[in-house]
Amino acid sequence: MYQDESYGSIEARASTTFMTISNSSPNGNSSPNGETESKSELAYQQLRTMIVQLDLAPGDVLREEELRDQLGVGRTPIREALQRLQREHFVTVLPRRGMYVSGIDVSELSMLFETRAVLEPYAARLAALRGTDQDWAAMSAALDRTTRKGVSKVEHLAIDRTCHEIMWNASGNRFLWDTLDTLYAQSDRLWHLYLAEVANMEHAVEEHRAILDALTDGDAEQTASLVETHVQSFDAQVREAVTARLAAPLAQ
Ligand SMILES: [Zn+2]
Repeated sequence: MYQDESYGSIEARASTTFMTISNSSPNGNSSPNGETESKSELAYQQLRTMIVQLDLAPGDVLREEELRDQLGVGRTPIREALQRLQREHFVTVLPRRGMYVSGIDVSELSMLFETRAVLEPYAARLAALRGTDQDWAAMSAALDRTTRKGVSKVEHLAIDRTCHEIMWNASGNRFLWDTLDTLYAQSDRLWHLYLAEVANMEHAVEEHRAILDALTDGDAEQTASLVETHVQSFDAQVREAVTARLAAPLAQ
């Protein structure tokens, strides 16, 4: 995971906050059961990516055994991964009927977007105050990848995600990280379902350059304001595409 490789313990940078939790990573991989947990974490990341990128589409049946074979992991990590995905509304379990990839509940779009619109600027504000030169150098390097020739929409989206991850991490608050990570993944899945063909991601990624300037200046107000506009315009695009598709839904 990005934050573990490049940034180490998030608590180190959260020392000025109320947090005194002794777990190590934002995703809590250190415990006596560390190995099982990191296998669960890996299985979770892989499954979630498959769901977000529609390799596992809404309505697809999930069979534990097949997934175990496919990912090459044991029963416990797969179970834990699926339970977590269920809590995050990516997976639905019907008693006696099994488990499947959740449909997109359009009525939840507003909840998703209004939460992101508040929390992303908030995390960005904290990032402007707590982030380091190392964070902004990493963001700058990610943005430089957009200048290569033939960068695809999916790659643009990955760069966008990296920029957000750097801000979540720099916010020094792992609760924000966990929440925004889940919300971004839900939004990402909508993007793959409704927008992958039509969206202009270049523009969205360009907005991150101005955000980076504000972060580098340590200007919390400006950062929060730019991020709010950025998130709202992305979500407005998704909302528009979903609304347009409602007459002929792609999935339930
Ligand atoms: Zn973005």
